Amino acid sequence: MKQICALLIAILLAACARSQTGAGDDWTNPGGDQGKTHFSRLDDINSENVTRLGFAWELRLDTTRGMEATPVVIDGVMVTSGVAGRVYALNAATGEEHWRFEPEIDPRVHRGTCCDMVNRGVAVKDGRVFVGALDGVLYALDLRTGRVLWRVDTIVDRNRAYSITGAPEVAGDVVIIGNGGAEFDVRGYVTAYDVRTGRERWRFYTVPRDPAQGPQESPDLEAALETWDPESRWDIGGGGTAWDTIHYDPEFNAVYVGVGNGGPYHVARRSPSGGENLYLCSIVALDPRTGRVKWHYQETPGDSWDYTATQPMVLTRLDINGESTPVLLHAPKNGFLYVIDRRNGRVIAANALVYMNWASGVDLATGRPNLTPETSNYALRPQIVFPTAAGARNWHPMAFSPETGLLYASVLDMGNLLFMSPGAKPHRVRALNNDAAIVFAGDILDVLPSLPPPVRAAVEASPELARVRNRPASQELRAIDPLTGRTVWSVPRAAWQDRAGVLATAGDLVFQGDLMGRLNAYDARDGRRLHTIETGTSILAAPMTYRVDGVQYVAVMAGWGGGGWSYVPRQSAAYERGNQNRILAFRLDGGATPVPDPLPPLEPAPAPPPQLAGTTPARIERGRDLFFGNCGICHSNQARSLLPDLRRMQRPTHDLFQEIVREGLYEANGMPGWSDLLSREDVDAIHAFLIEEQRRTRARELDLQRRGQPLDPPRATITSSN
Ligand code: CA
Repeated sequence: MKQICALLIAILLAACARSQTGAGDDWTNPGGDQGKTHFSRLDDINSENVTRLGFAWELRLDTTRGMEATPVVIDGVMVTSGVAGRVYALNAATGEEHWRFEPEIDPRVHRGTCCDMVNRGVAVKDGRVFVGALDGVLYALDLRTGRVLWRVDTIVDRNRAYSITGAPEVAGDVVIIGNGGAEFDVRGYVTAYDVRTGRERWRFYTVPRDPAQGPQESPDLEAALETWDPESRWDIGGGGTAWDTIHYDPEFNAVYVGVGNGGPYHVARRSPSGGENLYLCSIVALDPRTGRVKWHYQETPGDSWDYTATQPMVLTRLDINGESTPVLLHAPKNGFLYVIDRRNGRVIAANALVYMNWASGVDLATGRPNLTPETSNYALRPQIVFPTAAGARNWHPMAFSPETGLLYASVLDMGNLLFMSPGAKPHRVRALNNDAAIVFAGDILDVLPSLPPPVRAAVEASPELARVRNRPASQELRAIDPLTGRTVWSVPRAAWQDRAGVLATAGDLVFQGDLMGRLNAYDARDGRRLHTIETGTSILAAPMTYRVDGVQYVAVMAGWGGGGWSYVPRQSAAYERGNQNRILAFRLDGGATPVPDPLPPLEPAPAPPPQLAGTTPARIERGRDLFFGNCGICHSNQARSLLPDLRRMQRPTHDLFQEIVREGLYEANGMPGWSDLLSREDVDAIHAFLIEEQRRTRARELDLQRRGQPLDPPRATITSSN
């Protein structure tokens, strides 16, 4: 009898846990529900009727700089964030705007951001909206009016390249936010503030500081210090930024923080004698009252590959050996899919989703990966390492359906060439921390002839080169069994950059947008594509769903951007039609979706002015280095890029070049001044390089035009696994 009771209770508990999973009419945080499953219990829109899904409303956003947030909907009000932490509050049934908030940002912050001006969402709690602006200021806004209730500068050192792109997380009476910047020169941390006043409650640094500065801030950091060389490059900061996932778990009163990569990238440069370098690339469970560590799990010890652990987590329960087990599902950049016990951080399962050569598996007894330095330590020799620094997975949210028991996620199977950059510069504040050179797999064969001879020789001798030749990359939407990592079904994508967030629903549907601007609905059980809506705007962000006055809607923020944003893929809607960012909403029996017009055909570059007086080939060469070291992260000099193609400058721009670059003449357009970092002669050298580029571009394009050939590059395709 006792056993039957226990069994009944277990069944009831499991049923209870199941019924709580997923969002209902409201979608209360960017992840949908407390577990951030990106799953909805709504099934008015389902696999039977999804073909009737059509346009409900749109809000055009005055930017072309990329959308990554998933909106929140509470009581018929949608609140979401856009570039640099702008906030929009709308009527979720009509798209009518209630208010918008635009933080004032010093454009110089753009110089220290790796991956665009995006923002991944707001937290909404008790009538307050919390958002982190790109410049590191955390705002609390009044949900009804958008009025600023309080603001706090979360940045500890304004001389370093800190920024915020992630969503804040509310845990009880505190709101917690991290930051970005581990591509530059920062020491990562998260800070908790009182939700009512903005007063700081605690701060947790993710990596230790220079022991010469005195004791660490906490015993947790004293423990971490043991895993670093005392002679580490403390001046660079160590990295470890928590730029995306911070996840509150009320069941165990813990806040799980996903910690980012190390800075500099290679452990040999960062911590010369090696070490695990805690808490880089770890999930750290913090006590939300104190900021002390309850447990941690390091996914990538001694990171050298930019394998952040910041990717979104899902909290749920899985039936493991007959026991309903509270788990955290995590698929970070490093290629493993982890199932972690939320009670203690123990790894229950860790399966490789993609080909990898930095580790050969995870020892479940210790939780440690079996490292394979002979194929991944690029301080020894240049190496083609799998997966890529772009990540087997990245920030694009995955969805978990308790109905199918499957995870739905974008998965990238691709490697990259890594080598110690011969041009590595000593640390400079607000400069890209370029100790490692990275070439994505699809580009390796193209750049091979131009690589330094020793790098080229190492690549040609690499056993991985054949793999790159056969299949440079595969990008898929996959349905995955979380405990085994097995792919149940998959849908191949057209380009490796074609990765996007996912929504799963109780209507047996999986929604995902794509680079070409389509919103796709799939059968959650077999991956059959049931419906496609052409929107004409590239989609990266996760769709979400909600119900107002008995009508279910599906909404998504559309716009190309994020990591690699400055290069616009040839296949994308952003390339064909520009990148008008929008919030789009759909409903059953909606109308036709408005599609932006195609851009006009490309014209040959205008004639450049004569070369600057006194210009030598050496000056142009120096200008090239300065351009790629300072400007190239934003200005890709591609015809359809989101910022001006500087090979197509008109005469007035050339005439004002010094004023624009040094004095910040176009600051209002987001182009900061550089007079503190670049001298007049530096800027002349950059200008000379660009005049030369413009001359060559014009000559090439006039020639193509004469021969009747298109000026656009051909559409690239990638080989996929199926
Ligand atoms: Ca990174």
